[in-house]
Amino acid sequence: MVSGSGKRRRSCAAAMVCENGQPMRPTFHIAVFEGDGIGPEIMAPALRVLKTAAEASRACTFTFETVPAGAAHYAESGVALPPSSLKAAREADAILLSAMGLPHVRYPDGTEISPQIELRMALDLYAGMRPVFVLPGANCPLSDPRALDIDFVLVRESTEGLFASVGRGVVDGDSEARETLRITRKTSEKLFDFAFRLARQRKQSGRGRGEVICVDKANVFKAFAFFRDIFVERSAEFSDIGASAEYVDAIAMRFVQRPWEFDVLVTENMFGDILSDLGAGIMGSLGLAPSGDIGDEHAVFQPCHGSAPDIAGRGVANPMAMILSAAMMADWLGHQHAEPGLIACGERIRRAVGEVLVEGNTLTADLGGSATTDMVGLAVEQACGELVA
Ligand code: ATP
Repeated sequence: MVSGSGKRRRSCAAAMVCENGQPMRPTFHIAVFEGDGIGPEIMAPALRVLKTAAEASRACTFTFETVPAGAAHYAESGVALPPSSLKAAREADAILLSAMGLPHVRYPDGTEISPQIELRMALDLYAGMRPVFVLPGANCPLSDPRALDIDFVLVRESTEGLFASVGRGVVDGDSEARETLRITRKTSEKLFDFAFRLARQRKQSGRGRGEVICVDKANVFKAFAFFRDIFVERSAEFSDIGASAEYVDAIAMRFVQRPWEFDVLVTENMFGDILSDLGAGIMGSLGLAPSGDIGDEHAVFQPCHGSAPDIAGRGVANPMAMILSAAMMADWLGHQHAEPGLIACGERIRRAVGEVLVEGNTLTADLGGSATTDMVGLAVEQACGELVA
C-alpha cells in the first residue's frame, strides 16, 4: 500500500537486531482505540487475528496499547479525545480504531462526538483509503457476473472539504444556516500525488489498469474547478498513469452500473463520505468494508461502519471490516518499513477472511448467517494459522 510522502521515521522499536545469526523480528507498537458501541466487540478478535497472522508469517511482534476516547468516555469525563490518548497515537507506529460515537451522547450544539475526525485533523491524515472489492461469498447486490471483478480504491480527502466546517457552521435564528467547504492547494497536491502513486503501485502489482479519476462538481462550484485544475497539474508528473475527471453524480451512477471499470477514484471529503458507504453496499455489507486514513507521518485504520448501537452488546457484529482494516495496517507498515513479512501478513489475513466467506458456515447475521462475533473471529484466526504462505 502506498504511504503518505514516505517521510515516516523508522521506529526505534521496529529496528532489526540479530541474535544467534537469526534476524530478530521487529516489534511494532500499536495504539488501539476500542471506541463505542460494537467497537470493543470487534476489536478483540481483530487483535487476535493480527497476532496469529504475524506469527504465522514470521513477520513481527505487535504490542498493543488500549487508549480511551469516544462518546462513552465523553459522557464520563467531559473529554472526547484526551490529550494523553492523542500523545499515545502520535508515538505509536500505527493506530487501530474501531468505531466512535453514540447517537444519544452529543456536544451542547447537538453534534455527535467524533474523535476520529479530530484525529484525522490533528495527525493530518489527508488520504482516506476506502478499498472496494467483492469477495466470493459476500452478498454483493449487483447481479452482473462482472461484479466479482470489482477491485478499486476510493481515496477520500479527510482533513478539509466540507468537513473543514465541522464545529464552525452558523445558524442565523430559524431563517438560515451556512457551512463552508475548504479546498487548499497544499493538501490537494499531496492527495493527488498519493492517488497517482497508489495507482502506479496497483498497476505494478497487477491489480489495476493505472487510472485515476478525479470526482468533483467542477461544473457548478469554483472550489471544485480549483480542485480539478490542481489534479490536472499533478497528473503531468505521472505520465504512466491515466487521468480523467468526472462529476460526482455521474460517478454515483457508475457505482451501480459499471463499478468493475474503476481503478483509483480521488475526491473531496463529503463526496468521499457518501461514496464510501455506497462502496460498502456493493461489497455486501458495511461489516466488510475496511479503511485507512493516511498522512505523511501517521495512519489510522478503522472499519467504514459506525458504532452500530442497535446491535451493540449482543456479540453479533461482523468483525470482518475491523479485521480487514488490521490487514491494511500490516500492509502499510510493511511498505513504510520495507518489511515484506508484514505485507505477507496483511495478505494472509485477507485470504483467511475470503476463505471464511466462501466456506459460508461461520457468518454473522448481516451476511445471512447466525454466527457470533467471536465465532467469526476464531474462524478467521484458524484460517490464518492454516494457510500456507
Ligand atoms: P456513522 O455515521 O458513525 O458511520 P451510521 O449511522 O452510518 O454510523 P452504523 O453504525 O455504521 O451507522 O450502522 C448502520 C447499520 O449497519 C446499522 O443497522 C448497524 O447495525 C449495521 N452495522 C454496522 N456495522 C456493522 C457490523 N460490523 N456488523 C453488522 N452490522 C453492522
